[in-house]
Order: sequence, then C-alpha cells, then structure tokens
Amino acid sequence: MRTVVETINLCKTFDMGRNNKVQVLKGIDFSVSNGEFVSIMGPSGSGKSTLLYLLGGLDKTTSGKIKINGKEISSMKDKEESIMRRRDMGFIFQFYNLIPNLNVEENIMLPLVLDGKKTKNYRDNLDAILESTGLIERRLYRPSELSGGQQQRVAIARALINDPEIILADEPIGNLDSKMGNEIMELLKKINIENKKTIIQVTHSIESSKFGDRVVNMKDGELYD
Ligand code: ADP
Ligand code: MG
Repeated sequence: MRTVVETINLCKTFDMGRNNKVQVLKGIDFSVSNGEFVSIMGPSGSGKSTLLYLLGGLDKTTSGKIKINGKEISSMKDKEESIMRRRDMGFIFQFYNLIPNLNVEENIMLPLVLDGKKTKNYRDNLDAILESTGLIERRLYRPSELSGGQQQRVAIARALINDPEIILADEPIGNLDSKMGNEIMELLKKINIENKKTIIQVTHSIESSKFGDRVVNMKDGELYD
C-alpha cells in the first residue's frame, strides 16, 4: 500500500484579533493509503472542515506538515502546489457550489476551463462521467432544474473531470434526505472501487460514515481511532 495523504502534527489556529486565538486542530497525525475510502466523523465544530480545507489547500497550515504522495506541500512553490492540487485532488461540498447560470456540462467542465485546457479534448471523458454519475439525460439542465441529489451528482462529476487520484468530500450528503443521501454514498463507493479513487469524507453522520472502509473519530481538534 502506498501512502497518498499524510499529516504530521498538523495544527491550525485562527487568530480572531485582540489577542484572541482559537486552536482548532491540535496536532493531527493521519494517513490515508491509495484506494482507501476514509470517513472522518465528529460533531459540528470539531474541526473536520478545517482539516479537509488544509488537505485541499483551501486554507493555510499554522504548523506541522502535509504530504501528498510523499511530497511536503509547504516546501513547494505556490505555483507548483496549485498545479499538483488541480491534478491530484477533487473537492465535493455540502452545498454543491455549482454555478447557477451554467448548465450541467458547463459546470462539470469548469475546472478545465479555469485551467486553460481545451474542453473538446475531454468530450469522451465527459460522456463517460455523465454516464457513470447518471446525468446523461440532464446534461443541458441548469442547477435550479435539478433535485439536490442530482446537483450533488454534478458536483461529483466536476470533481472527476480532471481524473484526480484523491477526492475530498465535506459532508457530501449533509443537505440531502436519506434516500438521496444513500444514492450519493453508493455513487461515491462505486467511484472508490471502479474508478480507483482515494476518498476522504468528513461527516457528522454515523450512517454515511459506514460507507467507507475505515472511520476515524474527531473531537475538539484531535483524532481518535
Ligand atoms: P466542523 O466542520 O467539524 O463543524 P469546522 O472545521 O468548521 O468544524 O470548525 C471548527 C472550529 O473552528 C469551530 O469552532 C469554528 O467556529 C472555528 N472556525 C472555523 N473556521 C474559522 C475561521 N475562518 N475563523 C475563525 N474560526 C473558525
Ligand atoms: Mg464542517
């Protein structure tokens, strides 16, 4: 097994000004192997999103290390880091974060456009992803014309378009009823197994944590097995 994501004594403190600092991550040691589906579970406010955002490079580490495929992120140049992240990581959020005035295809292709890639080279890839996420019939719909579950499928498809090795999911079914939530978790499980993606999800729900291979518990900024 190959370690794809590793953190060493990872800490995050938010500085609220007026000498008011809040330590949200208190020395996280965590590692994930190639092909694993790991759930980090803990109550609201325990620091799950903060951890995922640091792994995804959406926020800066206070101290400690993050290694992606053995390479320490803080030692990379900013440009090198952003290239690596766009290539290796896809992100899924609780509230989908789709662009309302783009249709399904355009939302899925957006990361390619932002990367300056030619979308026509990705048509076959797009078709395969629309098929596997169950969106073929919806390709020209706008987000407002879709159910919550379908919108999350679009977000998942968008995370896959670059064919990243790692998918980071922040409460992916936190906004869905249990039927749609189950379908989305089954889809993530399929993507883990068939597309061989490493998945790290954070969740406050025991039910959704059961879809992973392994659950790690988080409380007050620390992890427990
Ligand atoms: P979870 O995702 O487990 O609900 P979060 O990582 O969102 O937890 O938040 C953990 C703690 O960090 C909370 O107390 C939250 O208020 C605080 N926090 C999160 N983001 C910020 C921020 N940008 N500035 C200040 N405090 C923050
Ligand atoms: Mg959160």
